[in-house]
Amino acid sequence: MDPQQLPSYADVVVVGAGPAGLTCALSLAQNGLSPVIVDARPAAQIVMRATVIHPNTLEDLDLLGCADELVAAGICTDCLTWKSQNEQAIGVIRFSALKSITKYPFSLFIPQHVVERVLTKKLAAAGIRVIRSKKVIAMREAVDNTHVVCELQMESGETLRTKYVVGADGAQSTIRTMAGIRYIDPHTGKIAASEGASRGSLFVLADLTLAEPLPPNVSRDEAVMILTRGGPLALVPLPDAETESQTGRMFRFATVVMPGDPEPPRNPDAAYFQRIIDKRGPGSHRSDGIKPPQIARVFETSRHQAFSAVAEKFFLRAHGGCIVLVGDAGHKHSPAGGQGLNLGVCDAVRAGRDIAKHFQSPLTTDVDSILETYAIRRKEIAAQVIQVAETIETMQNPATWWGIIVRNVVLRLVLLIPAMNRAVAFRMSGLGYREKQ
Ligand SMILES: Cc1cc2nc3c(=O)[nH]c(=O)nc-3n(C[C@H](O)[C@H](O)[C@H](O)COP(=O)(O)OP(=O)(O)OC[C@H]3O[C@@H](n4cnc5c(N)ncnc54)[C@H](O)[C@@H]3O)c2cc1C
Repeated sequence: MDPQQLPSYADVVVVGAGPAGLTCALSLAQNGLSPVIVDARPAAQIVMRATVIHPNTLEDLDLLGCADELVAAGICTDCLTWKSQNEQAIGVIRFSALKSITKYPFSLFIPQHVVERVLTKKLAAAGIRVIRSKKVIAMREAVDNTHVVCELQMESGETLRTKYVVGADGAQSTIRTMAGIRYIDPHTGKIAASEGASRGSLFVLADLTLAEPLPPNVSRDEAVMILTRGGPLALVPLPDAETESQTGRMFRFATVVMPGDPEPPRNPDAAYFQRIIDKRGPGSHRSDGIKPPQIARVFETSRHQAFSAVAEKFFLRAHGGCIVLVGDAGHKHSPAGGQGLNLGVCDAVRAGRDIAKHFQSPLTTDVDSILETYAIRRKEIAAQVIQVAETIETMQNPATWWGIIVRNVVLRLVLLIPAMNRAVAFRMSGLGYREKQ
């Protein structure tokens, strides 16, 4: 059969081939099922999104046999350094402090599209290919040989019947909407991103190369957050682009637009980012002759409005099937702390395992408790991750000058105490969300 041809039935259909959908399909396959995975796009996206994978996520990806390939393709850094405007270290979080409890005591910097490529390859090795240009537009109950099933309607005209629908279709999830599950702002209880719902910071980001030789204060071995009065500024090393035309070394640059600052364009240009680097980047406030790095080339830029949201339910029986949400379809939060992809991948590993358990269980009355337990636990973890991301965001952007002083003093003291430093690294690593054995 043509691998791009849609069958008429599959036990499980994963809708969306982002990191969460690909991981879920792989986890389902590893647990003995043969899911169909569809995506609305004709090809995988190569756009600027996540860059960091945390230790807990690497442990989960290791269960699927993907971690080593990802580690080989990315940059592993032991530390995240917070600096003041004049580049004095305020504190250094050391992930190596976690080496007694994880095989992966580091942050892995790797572009999201590379993660998706590795997952897609692994999935193909399991005999599963993403069926593309298949946008799900409707969902209804149908009867298949006297069994009630869920029928998915594609925009291209075909239908696909199934028992389980995994909604891995991102923050604007069609599956979540069609199942009638609301996406709630955890602060106001209103529908997220609607009128009156709360908003987080406005971020501007760029994937760019810095001209060589790099100034001595710009490192390829650490992620740096410079906390300036004009807003925090992050510079993290990325693997160099796979094009021969690349000049300079690849970095992700990100900053926050502070209240009162002019609104940036939707896709700010190289001159916009160079102005910020010159004003408050590394080398901007030094008297020893070291100058700010120069941008060689900007590959991609974006502007991103943060907001927080959690789906009311992560599991529901509706339209004749079991609907399970994973990834951004279930939760959304600030990019501060780089947790979105991580949380989605960890949801997906468990969803795959638990759907397989549910599918293989005899039809006893409490079989749904398997997926209800999944739903409750993932919703709890999503709420905790939203809190961590919002705390990082608030801490990075104090509203007053005295807030900056207090923040710097507290951070310095906290990170000087080894037990506290380790506790912060543990929190950021996601290892606290591990399942109890
Ligand atoms: C600028 C930026 C920086 C970020 N940085 C980080 C970071 O450093 N670390 C981190 O962990 N996270 C980060 N994130 C968040 C991360 O990118 C997301 O959390 C992640 O992409 C979510 O994955 P997902 O698979 O749930 O959804 P998505 O990646 O959104 O994938 C959803 C897929 O579903 C498909 N789809 C949608 N609707 C349909 C439909 N009706 N039918 C069929 N297919 C459909 C789409 O085509 C898409 O391929 C960042 C995000 C942004 C925007």
